[in-house]
Amino acid sequence: MAYIDSYYSRTSEPGIQARALQEQIDTTVCIVGGGLAGISTALGLVERRVSCVLLESQQVGWGASGRNGGFVGRGFSQSALKLTKTVGESHAKRLYSLTGQACELIQHRIKGHEDSIRQPGTGSVTASWFDDESGVKHYVEEMNRIFNESLEFWPRGKIAENYLTTRYYDGFLKPDTMRFHSLNYALHMARLAMEKGARIFEGTPAEKIGRKGSRWHIVTPSGVVNADQIVYACSGYIGSLHGKLSRATLPVATFILLTEPLGDRLRDAIRSPYAAADNRFSSNYYRVVGDKQILWGGRVSMFHPAQERLRVIMVNDLLSVYPQLKGIVGEVAWGGVMGYAKHKMPQIGQLKPGEWYCQGFGGTGMATTTMGGELIASAIAAGDDQYQVFAPFGLNYVGKPFGPVIAQLAYWSYQLQDALQVSRLNRKF
Ligand SMILES: Cc1cc2nc3c(=O)[nH]c(=O)nc-3n(C[C@H](O)[C@H](O)[C@H](O)COP(=O)(O)OP(=O)(O)OC[C@H]3O[C@@H](n4cnc5c(N)ncnc54)[C@H](O)[C@@H]3O)c2cc1C
Repeated sequence: MAYIDSYYSRTSEPGIQARALQEQIDTTVCIVGGGLAGISTALGLVERRVSCVLLESQQVGWGASGRNGGFVGRGFSQSALKLTKTVGESHAKRLYSLTGQACELIQHRIKGHEDSIRQPGTGSVTASWFDDESGVKHYVEEMNRIFNESLEFWPRGKIAENYLTTRYYDGFLKPDTMRFHSLNYALHMARLAMEKGARIFEGTPAEKIGRKGSRWHIVTPSGVVNADQIVYACSGYIGSLHGKLSRATLPVATFILLTEPLGDRLRDAIRSPYAAADNRFSSNYYRVVGDKQILWGGRVSMFHPAQERLRVIMVNDLLSVYPQLKGIVGEVAWGGVMGYAKHKMPQIGQLKPGEWYCQGFGGTGMATTTMGGELIASAIAAGDDQYQVFAPFGLNYVGKPFGPVIAQLAYWSYQLQDALQVSRLNRKF
C-alpha cells in the first residue's frame, strides 16, 4: 500500500522499493514490522554481523514512524519524574540515559544525510496550560538535578512574547530537541540496514507464525521464512497476530495538520524559533516547516475522521489556541496509530528463548526505538542482558477487544483531568 497523503510523503525521497517475498528463505533472525523499531533492530543486528530478514506489510516507515511530529529527544511517553517514583531514582536515571545514548547514535547514523533528514532549528518549548509557576519551576529543577538535563525556565512574559496566545502561562525550553523529516529518516535507516546486509521485504505481511522443529516458521502470502529467532515490532498495527503481544497493545490514533503557507501571518501567532508543545495530558505539539507552514499535532481518538473532516477539526483546534489566524486553510491532515502499553513505557523483552518483542513506544518513539533496537540486537548477538532494565514494564493486558473504546475513555478521562486542573489553578478563564 502506498504511503498515506501527508506532509512527509509529499516531500520525501523515493521509497526503498523492496520487493515482496516470493520464496522460502532461511535466516538467523526474522523481524516482523518495518517501522523504526523493526528497522533499528535490523540495523543493530547487521552491524553486529547477525543475518536478518525484515518483513513489512506495507512499506518501511508506512506506520507511525513515517508520519509523526518529527520531534526527536530524550525521554519516554511516561514522565521521567514519575519513573523515579515507580522504579526509583537510579533505575529511572539508567533508563533515561539510554534515550540520551540513542540520540547520540541517531546523530552518528545520519551523518552526511542531515540535509534530507534534519529540519532547521533545534530546541522545543513546553508551555504550561495551567497557572502553576511553582509546579513548572519544580519540574525544571528536578529534571536538571536528577537527569542532568539543561532545561531553562521561561516566565510567562517570555512565553507570551514568543507564542501569542492567552492559553499559556510559564514554560521551559529544552534546548536540544531535534526536528526530523520522519519518513526520510526511516527510509535512510532502512537503506543503511540493507547496505549492511539486512534483507527487507515490503508488501509482505507475516500472516501465520509457528514452530517447525527448533525454528520459527513465518508464513507470508507468497513465501516462508525459517528463522532461529523472531522479533515482533508491529506496534499499534499488530492486530491479532500474537495473542499476548496484541492484548498488551493499546492502538491509539492521533493526528497532524499542515497549514497553508502563512507568510507574515505566522508572526501574528508564533515568534519563536523553537518547536512547541503544551503540558496537558492531551497536548498539542507543533513546529514551523517548509514555507512558513505550521505542522500542528494533537488529539487522540478511537475514530479516524475522513480526511476532509479531519482537516476542519484540526484547523479549529489550532484556532482555539491562536484565534488570530482565523481564515487560514489546512493543506493536508492525516492520522497515525501509536502502540501504547498501560504503563506508557516501551515493552522490550523476550517471551521465551528466541521470541523477542520491541513495541509500546507510544507518542515518544523517534529516539526510543533506536534504544529498543540496540538492546535487542545486543541481546541476540552477544547475550547482553541490558534489555532487562525494561523488565518492570511488562505486557499488561489493556482490555482488548475493547482497546479502542478504552483508548477513547482514557482520552476523555485525561481531558477531564486537564479541565479540573484548569478550574483549580487558572483564574483567567
Ligand atoms: C501522528 C503521530 C505523531 C507522533 N509524533 C512523535 C514525535 O514528534 N516524536 C516522537 O518521538 N514520536 C512521535 N510519535 C510516536 C512514534 O512515531 C512511534 O512511537 C514510533 O514511530 C513507533 O515505531 P514502531 O516501529 O514501533 O511502529 P510503526 O512505525 O507503527 O511500525 C509498525 C510497522 O509494523 C508493520 N506491521 C504490523 N503488522 C505486521 C505484520 N503482521 N507483518 C509485517 N508488518 C507488520 C506495520 O505496517 C508498520 O509499518 C508520533 C506518532 C504519531 C502517530
